[in-house]
Amino acid sequence: MSLSLQGLPDMLVCNRSHLEDFCQKITKRTAKFNEIEPIVLYAANAWADAANKAYIIKKLDTVQRSFAIKICRAYRTTPLSSLRVLSGLLPLDLRAHENKTLYEIKKGYTACEHLKGAEVEIKTPFCKTSHPATAALEYVILFNEELTINGSSLQIYTDGSKTEEGVGAAISLWKGDIEIKSQKLHLAHFCTVYQAELMALKRAAQLAVQRKETEVLIYSDSRSALDAVVGGRSFDPLVTEIRELLIQHSEKNIKLFWVKAHAGRRGNERADQLAKEATGAKQKPVYDRCPISYVKKLIRENTVQKWVTKQSNETTGVTTRMFLPDPETAYRIVRSKGFNPIMTQILTGHGAFAEYLHRFKIKPSPACECDENVLQTVEHLLTECPIFTIQRHNLEQTAGMRIARNVLPDILAGHRLALENFCERILDRTRRFNGAQTIDKQNNSKDTTKI
Ligand SMILES: [Zn+2]
Repeated sequence: MSLSLQGLPDMLVCNRSHLEDFCQKITKRTAKFNEIEPIVLYAANAWADAANKAYIIKKLDTVQRSFAIKICRAYRTTPLSSLRVLSGLLPLDLRAHENKTLYEIKKGYTACEHLKGAEVEIKTPFCKTSHPATAALEYVILFNEELTINGSSLQIYTDGSKTEEGVGAAISLWKGDIEIKSQKLHLAHFCTVYQAELMALKRAAQLAVQRKETEVLIYSDSRSALDAVVGGRSFDPLVTEIRELLIQHSEKNIKLFWVKAHAGRRGNERADQLAKEATGAKQKPVYDRCPISYVKKLIRENTVQKWVTKQSNETTGVTTRMFLPDPETAYRIVRSKGFNPIMTQILTGHGAFAEYLHRFKIKPSPACECDENVLQTVEHLLTECPIFTIQRHNLEQTAGMRIARNVLPDILAGHRLALENFCERILDRTRRFNGAQTIDKQNNSKDTTKI
């Protein structure tokens, strides 16, 4: 069977070993899961339903585990629940469902359940756009030089804005040095500044077509919006509407200009001010098509929630939960900055600790260096072990709190660097006490992962 879109569900069910071999080869070639994840999730919309089956989830977990170990540079015994928290990877079965949902929404097969009735901005079909060769549009870049303006020309300045209050756009019509008309446009709260800029350009183009002036100059400070309009390669519905207007009314002398924002040009400053005022307007939005970027954000939030529920049923990864009890917070922390291998050992409990080494029959005694009756666990080393009293005291001074099990999440979130320094000292000592060579040899014996 050749690997095809339609054959993937059957491939997962009937030829798991082949797929597994294929994924293992991929694993050996690259250690970065973010690069390989799109390959594993290729055409997930076709096989996402198969990812509900327990044995398929298990296979996907196996693939993800191999990458997660490499990303975290963790011990091969580390549970997957901990690896996911520390690598910031979401379960592959949930990611497959995420891809399927996004695909269906993009194609218009289904509505986004989180949008409360709002419609998603669907790209204009290729067949409904003008051929790029039918009309060549262009815009002129104006820096500081003044354009010689014919007194009878109509100038329309456009701008878009997004603030905490909402999203707005505005146009300001000028003749000579006098503003003759202006319009504020309010957009739905989830719209982007790019959409606001395009909405202002669209309204300007509509007015330019309706008015009797023979020459209309339209100004915008958005290069991306102008590039999309003149480029002819964008299928954004607003872009295609603007293009169609300009192409169909090519007999009118409508010219596009880019002006630098906040450079003192009166018309542009006025449009900027009006657009900001429009953000907080209490009126029905003139545009409420939801951008795909917002839909992606909503779907990801939903996936993270599903993962949190899944994670709460996990019985493994106790040490990781001691530091990162809330997977949602952990996801944000890890996405901003990953953990080094030393912290991975501390945060998983799978590392150069006597209790762990004894559990896996590498060391005869689980006792700590300080007392033969005390287990050498991560919690003991961080909160009690008298060997590290001075270092612990320094951390307590920095953090302004006594180091105990219940404050470890706060210390990790608020004083990560100081905690990392403390952990480095601990690992340096425990590796020497427990025999670093034995630990590395044991950990590398069945896996290529290096500590
Ligand atoms: Zn101790």
